[in-house]
Amino acid sequence: MEKSLPSYGLLTQGEVLSWLTETDSARMETLWARADGVRRRYVGDAVHLRGLVEISNHCVRICGYCGISLHNRDVPRYRMESGEIWECARQAVRLGFGSIVLQAGEDYGLTRDFIAKLVRRIKEETPLAVTLSLGERPEEDLASWREAGADRYLLRFETSDATLYERIHPSLPGRPSDRFALLARLREMGYEIGSGVMVGIPGQSYDSLAQDILRFAELDLDMIGVGPFIPHPATPLGEACLPGAERVQVPATEDMTYRVLALTRLACPGANIPSTTALATLNREAGRELGLARGANVIMPNLTPAPFRALYEIYPGKACLSETVDQNAQGIGERLRALGRPPGRGPGNRGNSSA
Ligand code: SAM
Repeated sequence: MEKSLPSYGLLTQGEVLSWLTETDSARMETLWARADGVRRRYVGDAVHLRGLVEISNHCVRICGYCGISLHNRDVPRYRMESGEIWECARQAVRLGFGSIVLQAGEDYGLTRDFIAKLVRRIKEETPLAVTLSLGERPEEDLASWREAGADRYLLRFETSDATLYERIHPSLPGRPSDRFALLARLREMGYEIGSGVMVGIPGQSYDSLAQDILRFAELDLDMIGVGPFIPHPATPLGEACLPGAERVQVPATEDMTYRVLALTRLACPGANIPSTTALATLNREAGRELGLARGANVIMPNLTPAPFRALYEIYPGKACLSETVDQNAQGIGERLRALGRPPGRGPGNRGNSSA
């Protein structure tokens, strides 16, 4: 008797690999339609807007993929003042966004108290949900921020291939990097948890990418971000792909990213899934829209003040670099209207599909 394969959300294990390697472009339309239908049924038509504020580009890590790694001595460093971040939160409210995402390199100059005070003020004085994405901070920091009212934490595991991960994301001395363990702790602390991966990391195989998607379902993530790997010339991974001898390299393309996005929607039907800036960077005209049509239900307009935004160069040519906050927000509003997708109202928690 044939042994049935385990299923993950609305997918079987076998389906994941077969869709990642499908070569018939007409058949791909079936996947896009299925992902779009599941998105509509489970999370509705609303597109939740999360205002992204890149609050510091200091980082203690030496990730091989990232332009703000400690090793990049060419990038001028900044850390936003509390008042500047607060102004961004007010702007998010003014623009009608339901939540704000405070992201940074792993920067211990952003002290536990500084972040806790800021979070407390935003929670007390605005209706915004607060998401933090500040790297692998000690448990005491994460617990104190949760106590201050932070709702969500984003920490991509980047790849589930442990060898590849250690190569691109070296541990700090004496502190092994275990993002899966940290995600579990964050959940225990009561955060909504978000994670994700880059598509097309040099050395990433189809098998490992398929495992990443299954891992999303196993972790029962509330938010999942997937974007293409975009080489940064000032990083060790900035040159070319390093395919392993016997492995088949996943391409860091727009098409492959849509596949992962659509399969993620099928694996995790109720999750909040953004159409990422990295995707829009590969296709400025239609990347965001195609992401929304193939499974995504979240957009993260960039609220970082322009001078800082240019310095948060995790990869080159980031979409929306030249636009002002208002142009960016207005452009997104127009694009959503054209798609017939209403902007989400309220914080947009997982499972809240209200328009
Ligand atoms: N320090 C926090 C952390 O490591 O989770 C948050 C900031 S980190 C710069 C945010 C995300 O940027 C990473 O999780 C990674 O997936 C993405 N990223 C960094 N460099 C990238 C690149 N070259 N191409 C695509 N995405 C990249």
